[in-house]
Amino acid sequence: MKVLFLGSGTSVGVPVIGCKCAVCRSTDPHNKRLRSAVLVSSSTTSLLIDFGPDLHTQALRYDVTAVDAVLCTHEHLDHIAGFDDLRAFCWERTERLPIYSGERCKAQLSRMYPWAFAPGGYRGYVRAQGICHAGAPFCVGDIAVQPIPVQHATVETYGYVLRAGSASFGYVPDVKQMPDSSRELLRGLDALAMDGLCFPQHPTHLSIDENIALMRELAPKCGIVTHTGHRVDFNQLAAYLPDFMQPAFDGLELSL
Ligand SMILES: [Zn+2]
Ligand SMILES: [Zn+2]
Ligand SMILES: [Zn+2]
Repeated sequence: MKVLFLGSGTSVGVPVIGCKCAVCRSTDPHNKRLRSAVLVSSSTTSLLIDFGPDLHTQALRYDVTAVDAVLCTHEHLDHIAGFDDLRAFCWERTERLPIYSGERCKAQLSRMYPWAFAPGGYRGYVRAQGICHAGAPFCVGDIAVQPIPVQHATVETYGYVLRAGSASFGYVPDVKQMPDSSRELLRGLDALAMDGLCFPQHPTHLSIDENIALMRELAPKCGIVTHTGHRVDFNQLAAYLPDFMQPAFDGLELSL
């Protein structure tokens, strides 16, 4: 299984428009973060997780030309505002593009983009099949997907664990807390990427220290901090993290 980080930034991206902080002025490409999304691929199947406003740039930069299905974590715009660019993944398909999400996100997508879910649909535009997974496991091709309910603001939000063969990857980009039942599902993975917005406490996202504490408990072989804001310098974060952890960056690729 391969995992490609298409974006590793928080909702406003990094640099932040108009900000003159050291990270926003940095010339290190590791400090340029598009909105968070990942592409997960097996030998036969590829899944996109989230489609934020940078999807067009990401698809061109990383040559993403087809996906078998899309998973959505939640309805915040940094995760769904690139919906219209999913059309490029629909042109070669005879069937609708499956978009898996929780119930509330499915309803929100149908409200925002009703034409994409209408019977028949419009030629050349997104033709989507909204699928509510209701938190239950499912498969897309040879990738098994386990949705992980987490707490993030007041919005119904899911992380996902994906397994292909013996490889496992967990992705939880937006989270503040999670119930014990979700922690059990995230234990001992090959790699786990989780929300680490900033060093200070934040009401709706894990801080870096909260991320590290949770990673120590969940004990992946490799822990990755993602959805990171502009107050966090890549190299400083890399030096701060324990040995089994690393910061995500745009273009990071894992072979599991
Ligand atoms: Zn987000
Ligand atoms: Zn800044
Ligand atoms: Zn969010």
